[in-house]
Amino acid sequence: RAKERGKKAACLFEFDFEQEYYGRMRLQAELASALDEQQLFLVYQPIVDVRTGDIVSVEALVRWRHPTRGVLTPGAFMPNAEASDLMERLGEYVLRLACHTAAGWRNPVPVAVNLSPKQLRSGRFVGILKQCLLESGLLPGRLALEVTETVFLVSSETTTNQLAAIRDLGVRIVLDDFGTGYSSLTYLRGFDVDGIKIDQSFTRDLPGSQKVAAIVRTIGRLASDMNVYVVAEGVETVGQMNWLRSNGIAFAQGYLLGRPGEDTVFSGLDPARPGPTVAIANTARDSL
Ligand code: C2E
Ligand code: MG
Ligand code: MG
Ligand code: MG
Repeated sequence: RAKERGKKAACLFEFDFEQEYYGRMRLQAELASALDEQQLFLVYQPIVDVRTGDIVSVEALVRWRHPTRGVLTPGAFMPNAEASDLMERLGEYVLRLACHTAAGWRNPVPVAVNLSPKQLRSGRFVGILKQCLLESGLLPGRLALEVTETVFLVSSETTTNQLAAIRDLGVRIVLDDFGTGYSSLTYLRGFDVDGIKIDQSFTRDLPGSQKVAAIVRTIGRLASDMNVYVVAEGVETVGQMNWLRSNGIAFAQGYLLGRPGEDTVFSGLDPARPGPTVAIANTARDSL
């Protein structure tokens, strides 16, 4: 019976493996046509000043309006895109869209765009970036690019040179998900960045955990000594906001302050009807 069970398990495994394989292939094909058919769009999440509640910037986050599965978040398709050669195209599409959209806002708030390590690997990125800025008319100072520490894992001369060239243009580089990589301090030593975003896994344990409180306070100190700004990600409670304010973390992002949403809400395009994001930000401000 054990033998039979083993056989059945092996069979199940193969079945799952095949399912997964075909699932991946299908998703890749669908993603390729999603790019052609403009099913990808951006939502924007505010980043606020913890003292005033003012929106100081917004982060563009990609979504896929899938023809049958509804709106998908990046977790459902980015790993797949990263593993295929679609990532460069997807990244370029997102960057161009973010620049054009932000350039049209009446409220000239800066926009942050996430960058995949793959986009920096080929050496074509800086050219694409210049083109996006030129075409859209967005001032370089209004654009920030968020990179995770994995960018530095595959760090090559191409990557390093491009990061420097990006900053020379006046576009900011921000270290995303800070603290989750293997040797965050090494990256800070080796590369010049303008900002750091403390990963939401740290924020989640505030203000309860003394250990995390010590770490976050220290990151804040480090950043201010290095003249780098800090954003805490994933802020969901008033208690977290209060802690950040009393511990010198200048900026925050999270559901408490606004969920990712349409740009009309904060861009000044629809001032008559402040949408949910502003309403939530105001609620948070009232609690200050
Ligand atoms: P990220 O850059 O760290 O973005 C923050 C993620 O946390 C977003 O998820 C956002 O919706 C979510 N979030 C924000 N506030 C809260 C909160 O208070 N609580 C919780 N639990 N979550 C919060 P999203 O949109 O699903 O994006 C996930 C990741 O996918 C992003 O993490 C980013 O690494 C990647 N991503 C998103 N858009 C792009 C893109 O256009 N290009 C690339 N290369 N990566 C992207
Ligand atoms: Mg990000
Ligand atoms: Mg992040
Ligand atoms: Mg994150």
